[in-house]
Amino acid sequence: MSELRKDLVSGRWVIIATERSKRPDDFRPAGGAARPPEAGAFCPFCEGNEAKTPPEVYSLGRNGTAPDTPGWRVRVVPNKFPALNRGTPPPKHSHGVFQWMEGIGVHEVIIENPDHEKELGDLPVPHIRDILCVFQQRIRAIEEDLHYQYVQLFKNKGKEAGASLSHPHSQIVATPIVPKRVKEEIYGADRLSKAYKECVFCRILREETAARERLVYENRVFSVIAPFASRFPFEMSVFPLRHSPFFTDLKDGELVALAETMKVILTRLKETISDPPYNLVLHQAPNPMLSYKTWPDIGRNYHWHFEIFPILTKVAGFEWGTGYYINPVPPETAAGFLRKG
Ligand SMILES: [Zn+2]
Ligand SMILES: [Zn+2]
Ligand SMILES: [Zn+2]
Repeated sequence: MSELRKDLVSGRWVIIATERSKRPDDFRPAGGAARPPEAGAFCPFCEGNEAKTPPEVYSLGRNGTAPDTPGWRVRVVPNKFPALNRGTPPPKHSHGVFQWMEGIGVHEVIIENPDHEKELGDLPVPHIRDILCVFQQRIRAIEEDLHYQYVQLFKNKGKEAGASLSHPHSQIVATPIVPKRVKEEIYGADRLSKAYKECVFCRILREETAARERLVYENRVFSVIAPFASRFPFEMSVFPLRHSPFFTDLKDGELVALAETMKVILTRLKETISDPPYNLVLHQAPNPMLSYKTWPDIGRNYHWHFEIFPILTKVAGFEWGTGYYINPVPPETAAGFLRKG
């Protein structure tokens, strides 16, 4: 069982994941469990190997085939080495000044397609739409359990981005506490929305789409921008033009537009900077059953989005020490390259 521990001074929670416990040797780059399998190695996510994952919790595209057999288009399984485990609501414990709780939560893997070689951006738009739809379904299902306050959806593509298996997949980790980074955005948005008398994200979008300098792509439903204060080269944010705090609130036609958007920007990333590893994260308001109690104005003030960071630079001492980032590519330049595709 893993543990959630609170860093008293910063207010940050850390997952001490004992089930992924490693010996010092495992961290040596030359070998051990920290090293992802090489190309050609056995892949538990490939079609035909369904028995090698924990039993599936959801799948899409089955035409009468049984769970955990071939014949799916998108498949969701619990993570075999979960950072958090499902369970009953954990009480917080304390020892002196230290606070901790049992590592209760959800950790799932969304296997995006049966084909090992086809990355998210390589798939046809209808298949990307299906994956986005599965994201929504899983988030909604997990949020029914009220003690999962925040559901984080993310994708690590490539070894340098943290993927331990190269088969295209995304992950969901639901936590019993709203993460610090998400809270920072919520409180910042609350404060600025009061100052601007409107959602600050809507305001930013309006200015960015008018100026066009940092605009990477737009369609009738979404805008992609290289953020003004991008931390990383070629960082992008994907915003729905329709204000909403929840990704799960997206309607069918909007999901298709999001799939088109993802296809375009992932293809441009691949072509412009030779298929870099990247992280993709979803930011939306916490569990809707709780959000409004804690943040009564969250519906008006928060605006869901995806953030995408290609892994081209290393986060080093200065960044760790200060929270400042040094970005060698101005977002205006990045947007110029990414617009051309
Ligand atoms: Zn595979
Ligand atoms: Zn907004
Ligand atoms: Zn964000």
